[in-house]
Amino acid sequence: MAGKVSPIKAGLACRCPACGEGPVFKSFLEIAPRCTACGADFSKADAGDGPAFFVMFILAIIIMPPVLLVQIVFAPPVWVHAILWTPLIVLLGAWLLRPFKSIMFALQWKHNAADVRWTGSDGHSS
Ligand SMILES: [Zn+2]
Repeated sequence: MAGKVSPIKAGLACRCPACGEGPVFKSFLEIAPRCTACGADFSKADAGDGPAFFVMFILAIIIMPPVLLVQIVFAPPVWVHAILWTPLIVLLGAWLLRPFKSIMFALQWKHNAADVRWTGSDGHSS
């Protein structure tokens, strides 16, 4: 079954990118050390800040039209905006972060991406 799992499907379901069965997360946003179903080692891949960037980008696109609409139609004081949008942004962000992190992890898994390390072997270092 290895290699047949779609990284997007496994990512959206927050499942192991190798077998599609075991959960990727051991807590809300922490990647498990290995798959409980197939034993795949998850310790090599880390999406870092990537998911947060995409979630912020998408949130901005989702949130800005209603914010502008409310401002144009009602012109409320600033504190109304703060009360309206802050919880929405936090909840949407938390809701989106898990599948995004899982998808990026699954894509890294599929394409064998690991940390880029400086080897210093190309002759340019001193
Ligand atoms: Zn697995």
